[in-house]
Parts: sequence; structure tokens; C-alpha cells
Amino acid sequence: MSNAAVIPLVSATSSVDVPHVTVRTTCPYCGVGCGVEAVCVTALGDARRGAPEHAPENKQQNAQAAMPEIRGDALHPANAGRLCVKGAALGETLGLEERLLAPAMRTRNDVMETPRTVSWDTALDAVADGFRAVIAEHGPDAVAFYVSGQLLTEDYYVANKLMKGFIGSANIDTNSRLCMSSAVAGHKRAFGEDVVPVCYDDLEAADLIVLVGSNAAWCHPVLFQRIARLKEQRPAVRVVVVDPRHTATCELADLHVALKPGSDVWLFNGLLSYLADRGLTDRAFVGAHTHGVAEALVAAAADGGDIESVARTCKLAVQTVRRFYEMFAATGRVVTVFSQGVNQSSSGTDKVNSIINCHLLTGRIGKPGAGPFSITGQPNAMGGREVGGLANMLAAHLELDNAAHRALVQDFWGAPCMAVQPGLKAVPLFEAIEAGRVKAIWIMGTNPVVSMPEADRVRAALARCELVVVSDVMARTDTADLAHVLLPALAWGEKDGTVTNSERRISRQRPFLPPPGAARADWDLLCDVARRMGYRGFDYPGPHAIFDEHARLSTVGNGTGGVAPRQFNLAGLTGLSRAAYDALASIQWPVPCPATGTGPTGTARLYADGRFSHADGRARFVPVRGCWPAHGIDNDYPLVLNTGRVRDHWHTMTRTGKVPRLAGHTSEAAVDMHPHDALLCGVREGELARVRSRWGAMVARVRHGGGMPRGSVFVPIHWNAQFASDARVGAVVNAAVDAVSGEPEFKHTPVQVEPFPVSWHAFVLTRTQELATPATYWTRIQGRQFVRYELAGREAIADAGAWARALLDVKAAGAEWLEYEDATAGVYRAACVVAGRLEACVFLSPRPDLPARTWLSVLMENDALATPERASLLAGEPLEAGTDTGQIVCACFGVGRETICRAIRQHGLSTAAEVTACIKAGGNCGSCVPEIGALLLACHAVQAA
Ligand code: SF4
Repeated sequence: MSNAAVIPLVSATSSVDVPHVTVRTTCPYCGVGCGVEAVCVTALGDARRGAPEHAPENKQQNAQAAMPEIRGDALHPANAGRLCVKGAALGETLGLEERLLAPAMRTRNDVMETPRTVSWDTALDAVADGFRAVIAEHGPDAVAFYVSGQLLTEDYYVANKLMKGFIGSANIDTNSRLCMSSAVAGHKRAFGEDVVPVCYDDLEAADLIVLVGSNAAWCHPVLFQRIARLKEQRPAVRVVVVDPRHTATCELADLHVALKPGSDVWLFNGLLSYLADRGLTDRAFVGAHTHGVAEALVAAAADGGDIESVARTCKLAVQTVRRFYEMFAATGRVVTVFSQGVNQSSSGTDKVNSIINCHLLTGRIGKPGAGPFSITGQPNAMGGREVGGLANMLAAHLELDNAAHRALVQDFWGAPCMAVQPGLKAVPLFEAIEAGRVKAIWIMGTNPVVSMPEADRVRAALARCELVVVSDVMARTDTADLAHVLLPALAWGEKDGTVTNSERRISRQRPFLPPPGAARADWDLLCDVARRMGYRGFDYPGPHAIFDEHARLSTVGNGTGGVAPRQFNLAGLTGLSRAAYDALASIQWPVPCPATGTGPTGTARLYADGRFSHADGRARFVPVRGCWPAHGIDNDYPLVLNTGRVRDHWHTMTRTGKVPRLAGHTSEAAVDMHPHDALLCGVREGELARVRSRWGAMVARVRHGGGMPRGSVFVPIHWNAQFASDARVGAVVNAAVDAVSGEPEFKHTPVQVEPFPVSWHAFVLTRTQELATPATYWTRIQGRQFVRYELAGREAIADAGAWARALLDVKAAGAEWLEYEDATAGVYRAACVVAGRLEACVFLSPRPDLPARTWLSVLMENDALATPERASLLAGEPLEAGTDTGQIVCACFGVGRETICRAIRQHGLSTAAEVTACIKAGGNCGSCVPEIGALLLACHAVQAA
């Protein structure tokens, strides 16, 4: 059981002469929700306060001065002190470079105009007046908010209240629609409420962990490491990975069920039939606590109730299916963890229910080490669900389409104009903007021009929208570039509020840096606009007051007044003073009223009493049938595009793209494909390829090695116009959605892959941020004190020397150029040295087989070139063989692939622990341990051969 025992949120220490404060906060990336400690020198915050809005050099200086030390919070139950590489690098994301620090506006219908700085009054009046004018002329459904799982619960609460209770529309949706709304819909159908019944401790109590559509090793690394440690401590624990790809997560798997993309329902319907046929139904549980088992079993049997037919449909070996079913059947304590691979499907909700059905049939829910477990992608996807941040939900787990619930909320808010019907979910929302039905939108903390399916249509829709308001921390994003009003928001480290992680744990995000420039909290901006629109009820003295209102609303009509009780209940957290809110330790909801004289106590596991949230207290089996993705492959588009995250980047890279050590692992957008498919498509590893669907196209570098099965390709979601010329995979993804949840089918778009012909390839390392001349293809990669560009072009280069000088545009006096050219071969290399330091270099070739970048990158980090370095500069590699580290694997210690392989070979290493002991790799955050395992296997296979 969790509780809210007070843990010091801030502790002050002092070394000999430098006082420090340690602030406990929460990681802003994935849904694991790790606790973080920020150790700050007390005086440093002041250097950042009121950072000048128009002085980039000062921004940089302040950014450097304000860098706190970041470490895992040993007292936080989610991570017990561990952080993955992204969390560990958070301190390097806090600089103010490229931040939006003042409100700005550009003329409507002129998105090419550079935004001009305006006062807060001007900007917020423009938002309030603009929204009011559209509502007056076209009604409340002509405006919308599109918000984000990056927002804090307090921000989310106010946005939802303003739109649903005062503007009178439910047109507020969130980017969480794109990652977990199928889980929400599945929970509501099965349990009667959007409830995750399990907790992280259940993983440690389980004997079998089934990971479905989840590359937890990369996307939820600390959770994955908890499972890895569990397997070390209890080797009998089994792990099954159900995923078409052989991901890094499979390094831990006893069984990899590499099913055909989209066939999950057949697999789990087959499991349901298998369990029932072998008498493994928990009859007492099913009889007393559920409805609908007979219908679910009929549906499952109709999908092919025997192992052979399941194996045929899912394109699996019969023994693989049998082994999975036998393991599930033989193990009482099973947790089935699922994520985007299940949710992001046109039948995502049915997939979720097919998993839950198996747990209901066996009564494996509400008990230690048992239950279905949806893990969320974003830090506050769960918090958004609590406050009704989705267009079809009301606040506090109340129902928008229930008149009694609407009346409760209207009365509580004193709302003049409640929404009476669900609003537009994300995909139809942007379609409505395209059609001109929605004429004003406020986008908060998200980047739909990159992340939405059919992203080119989304961009075109926003470009013609009458009023686009964007509140963000970054001055330039693909979406901010289309905004008429830009509002500077607070970033992580400055924000103050709460988030809820995948196990319902509410944790504080506490500020440890003062607001920079004119930036303000999202809730504050929303309240200001609400007041300017003439609404009352938006005068909060701080986030604690919003949280209190949110907590009190959770108790309204909760099991009283004829309204069924809801699990979401924060009764024990109502009435917190500012000080108590500041001191709040993490706690899992529901939090009932504490007994007199005791503090609030959370709840780790739900439905232990078998009473579910439906009005009759019974869970529902949902009969589901297998259904293939909306768009199948054909001769023109013969490959299945799968999209997702890479290990070291996050969403659209606004934070992780700044951090050199996070850029080393995956530097460019890549299309990962099986070598045989590449051969058939006429593309080769390292070359550029165009990935094209019926909806759009993008360009990426071909790679192998990501465990792709034949017929599928994988492209990461992160790259966008700020980092690459044409790498938005959202432009390629089809906009088919799940009929129940509205979640798009990001995991299945038919595509073709074709060569992207260019006449030259190049890379550049330069201390200048921007290159002076464009290229057909470019990717920008942040290094330490330099920027790396990968380039390619179609136009032949007649004079390479002149081209290089124009490209690099080095203006420093006394610049010395070292050059090598083989004009016949089309090879050119140049380095520019200024005062003994490498200022820039460029390597050009007709082929992509250019030298490795790692050694040259190290030279760019140095203040001066040594004589041997200068001598081998244009070779691109050191004179002594074997010192190139290769592509970074361990970002914490900067250890590359070549270094690890050399150590394995030279020292005969056979385990990841031995690698760590030898060269440190894998010894800090552990995110790279699965890849070290794969390298061990690969090296040993080569040696054996
Ligand atoms: S696993 Fe990594 S990204 Fe996720 S919350 Fe923890 S530190 Fe942050």
C-alpha cells in the first residue's frame, strides 16, 4: 500500500561554501513516472529569472549557469533511484536556447511572417476576442482546444473546465488520443470505468509477464529494468513478448510470439478458448463478478478455437502458440502488460478487451501478481483522463452523455453553458478544421503537424484556419510555425503541479528554476483568457487550489444521490493547504477519507473484492472478433509501416534533440527493414529511400538490424522539419481510427519503399548552427559545441572547394583550409582550422560510405588539434587503428558499438555484467543492456563461425 507520508520535498545542504537545495520532482517523459531529484546551487536560479527575451548570448550563458544535477529519487516507489538515459540527461535539456520567452503574434493568413513580440495583454486579448468572435458568429462548436499528455493535471483541469463548462463545447481532445484511448475504451467496456487495476509491485509478484505490443526496453526502460532484476532474482519467472518485431525487449524473453501485424485478437481469442476448453475458468469468480462469458466464448470460438487455426491466422509456428498458451494456463500469477502496439489500431479497443477477457475468465485480476496492465506513453496521460481531457469524457470519471452527471458537474462548477454531447476526437477535429467547421484552435504543448496521421493534411488545415493559438516552450516547432498567437509556457523544472503515472500514482512536478522571460504556466494562461472572456470561477491563487477543486469534484456524486460509486476518488486529498500540497508525497488513487488522526492512504491494487465499477458491480466480458487493419497491403503498397519510438529520443525532440549524448544512439530518421525486402525494393543499407503511402511520403536512411520481419518496415516518430528536410512519418500514416476509441492506426499503413536518388552524399561538422546553402536532403544532429549535418543532393557539384566554402561560410580571420580532392572519383574532403582548433569539416562522396563521424566529433570537442590528429584529419580516422568507438550504444559513458565488440573479443566477455565491469558500458542507467546482450550474441556467433 502506498501512503502520503511526508518526505522532505526540498532539503538544503551546504558544502564548504556552496549551499545546495535538492528538489524532489517527477520525470516528464514516459508513463513510468520516475521520481527525480534536482540538486541546485541555490543562487543559480536567479541567473535565469527574467532572462532577457532578445539576448541569445545571455540565454546561453544563463542556460549554462542554471544546470542542476539530476539524479533518481531513491524514495520514489516507481523507480527507487533509477533513471533511464533520457531521465538522466534531463539536466542537459534545461538551457534556454530556442525557447519561446515572450508572447508573439503574426498577421492572420500570413504564416510566412516572422512573429513579432507583443505584450501579454495584446496576446491574451487576441485569444479571448478571437474565440469570443467565432463563438458569437458560429457557435461554441466552432472552437477547439488540442492539448497534451505533457500538461500537468492542473493545466488539464482548467482547460477542460473552460471548454466543457463555460464555452459550452466538448471540443477538447488530447494527444493522448493517439497513444492510449483504446485502453481507456477497453477499461470502460470491461470494468465500467477507466481503471488500471494493477500496480508496478504486481510485476514483481508475477510468475509470468506477457508484454504485448510493448518495446518496454526502449519506451519504459525503468519498468523493463525492474522486470530484468526480477528475472535475475527469480529465474523461474517467465517473460513472453508478443510483437511482430524482434525488439530490444525480446532480449529478456523466454518466448517471442512474432505474430502477423494486426492478428492480436485471434491470438487472445484462441487463448480464451484454450483456457475454457481445459477447464481453467474460475467459475466462482466468473459467476459472482462478471457478465457475458458465454457470448465471449462463442465469439472466440468463431475466430478459430484451436491452436492450429490460430497459428495459421497469426502466421506463427504451432509450437509457439501452444507454448504461450501452456505458459499462461499453467501460471496463476500473470500480468499482461500492453501498450501502443495494441492500442494504435483500428481495432485497438477489441484487442484490449480480448486481453482483459482472458484475465476475467481465470479470475486473474485484483490479486497480487495478476491483471491486465495498460502502460501509458506520456507522463500525464492518466492525469488527463482523470480530469476529462478527452472529447468524450467529463471530469472526474463522470460521463458526458449522462444528463445526471452533467448536472452534477455544472452545479459544482457554477457553469453557465455545459457541453451536452461528445466533442470531436483528434482525427475528426483536424478534419473539421480542414472543412472550415472549426475556425479557432488553441494547441497546448503538442505538435500535431508532426504527430498526427495524414500530417500534411493537418498542416494544410492549420494553415487555412482563421485563428491558431499555440502555447509552447519552444519558439519554433512545425506547429508553432503556423500560429497566429504564440504564448510562452513553462517547461519542466519551472512547472508546478501534479502528474499521474501508469499505476495511478499521483506525483508532484515541482519547480526548481524560476520562470524564464515572460513564460507563464498553462493553467494561468487559460484562467487569464477565461476571465477576459467574462467567465467567473477562474481566480485560482495557485495550482494547489486547482488540485483541491479537482479532488473535491472526484467526491461529488460518488456513490451518493443515486450515482454509482467510482474508483476515481481523491477524498483524502481534499482541503490540502499550499504547504501540504507542496509536501505531498506520491500516492495512488483512490485515496479515501483517512480515519481520524491518520494521513491519507492510497490504494495499490483495485477490484480485490470483485466489485467492479459498472452499476451492478460486475465486470463485462466483451465478445470480440478478429478484424484486420483498415487498409491492407497490395501490389502497389506491399509493405506494412509500423511507427514508434527510439531509445534516446522523445516525441518531436524539442528536449532530447538538444542533448548531444542522446543523439549518438540514433542520429537520423531511418526506415528499418528486412534485408530481403530492401533487395526487392532496390535499396541498400546506408542509402536514402522514400517511404510512400497513399497518404504521403517521407525520406529516411535504410537500415537493417531492428529485428524486422519480412513484409514490415519501422520508422521512428520523432523527426520533423526542425531536424530534417523531409522525415515526418506522420505524413505517411493513414488516418483510419478505431470506431470506439478514435485512436489512429499508427502501427499499420501500407507503403512502398523506393530509392531516393541523389548524386552526392556528405556530412558536415560545424560550430555554426545553420548552413549557408540548402541541400536536397539534410538532417541536423546536435553535438557538444558543434552541429553535425548529414546531407545529400541531386544537383551535381562542379567546384567542390567553392561549394564547401559557401556551405560553411567561415568568417573567422585567419581561417586555414586543409583540402583533399579526387575530382575523378567525386571525392572531396576539407577541414577549416582557426587558431589551431577544428572549426568545421566537410566530407563529400558520390556514395554514402563516408568515414565514421565519432572520432571527428571528438576533435570538434577539443580546444586544439594535436599534430597526429591534424595529420590524419582528412582521413577521417586516427592513425592508430582501433580507436574509433563506433555508433554510441551506452549514452551514459559514451561507449560505442566497436569498443564493446573489441572488448568482447579481446577479453572473452560473455555477459553484459562482464562488459560493464570491463568498460563501464551499461553500468549506469541500464538502458543499453539489451543491446549489449545482442552484441554479445552477434560477436559469439561470428567467433563460432
Ligand atoms: S523510465 Fe526514463 S523516461 Fe520513463 S519516467 Fe523513468 S526516467 Fe523518465
